Amino acid sequence: MRIAKRIGSALAAICLATAALWAQSEREYVIVVHGGAGAMRSLEQHPEQAAHYYAALDSALHIGAALLERGSKGEEAVIAVLRYFESNPLFNAGVGATCTAAGTFELDASIMRGEDLSAGAVAGVKHVKHPIEAAYRVMTRSAHVMMAGEGAEQFAREQALEMVDDNLYFATPKTLQWVEQLKQESKKNGTTGCVVLDKQGNLTAGTTTGGMFKKKWGRVGDSPVIGAGTYADNASCAVSCTGHGEYFIRHAVAYNLCARYKYLKEPVADAARHILHEELNAEAGNGGLIAVDREGNIAMDFNSGGMFRGYLYKERATGHVCGEVGIGQKLVPVSNHP
Ligand code: ASP
Repeated sequence: MRIAKRIGSALAAICLATAALWAQSEREYVIVVHGGAGAMRSLEQHPEQAAHYYAALDSALHIGAALLERGSKGEEAVIAVLRYFESNPLFNAGVGATCTAAGTFELDASIMRGEDLSAGAVAGVKHVKHPIEAAYRVMTRSAHVMMAGEGAEQFAREQALEMVDDNLYFATPKTLQWVEQLKQESKKNGTTGCVVLDKQGNLTAGTTTGGMFKKKWGRVGDSPVIGAGTYADNASCAVSCTGHGEYFIRHAVAYNLCARYKYLKEPVADAARHILHEELNAEAGNGGLIAVDREGNIAMDFNSGGMFRGYLYKERATGHVCGEVGIGQKLVPVSNHP
């Protein structure tokens, strides 16, 4: 009886070890980024402008991949990438953020760790230089998941994060023009996001944005809402969204994708397609998302004209690094853009 029991537990241990081996991704690490979704019509007509975006996506991927290559945790890569986007005026995050109807800049950001479902977010901050850092501090140094407005700013100050005195720090000549005119119906795309599968097999997701052009001051979109704009769970996927936030909140898009993967056993790309093209569409829920599942499969889908996006991964067996970046339908090899 005792021998049978021992054989039983040895078999169980072998099964568990085999399952763990099977669960290991064929990709040593994976990083996917987005820089917002939108019509992209003007960029199609101006390839010289598009080249700046290709180069920025390329840099973002390489910043993240260098950390992942070194064995850094996914959250370090996500923060480094999103800090880069927040400093780059091309994108609607940090400097370059779009303005509210009141002519102010109100920033939202969030981050989630798939290993233990811990998450942090800030909404409507006006003086935090890197909102993604503040979101990370909410996750790691507070008992909360989301903080907003002045309370979030005071918390960021207490955490000794870099602050800016003037809200116009986030303005660029282009956004300042909008602040002055505000009648202009143009809008800025460029919310940024990053999802990662690191060498330890952990998933992380982060998103940072200025929100929607001419939003009412005080309005909060999907980007800082865990489950809507951002979600990560090691049992399923890491997701970051961009687009018309109100729809992404109503459809709990980021969690919705993880749930389809987990419960319907849908491949990540099919789940993304279903949500963006059947539940949402270009009129009701214009936008896109990036996702990576626990096996390293990725999705980069959108129902808009285009989405700034890119991915990069390292094959475990061969050590090859593969990656592409794109704006419209077409993808081009990473570091080999026009
Ligand atoms: N989703 C963002 C928001 O609604 C905006 C965007 O991604 O363009 O605030």
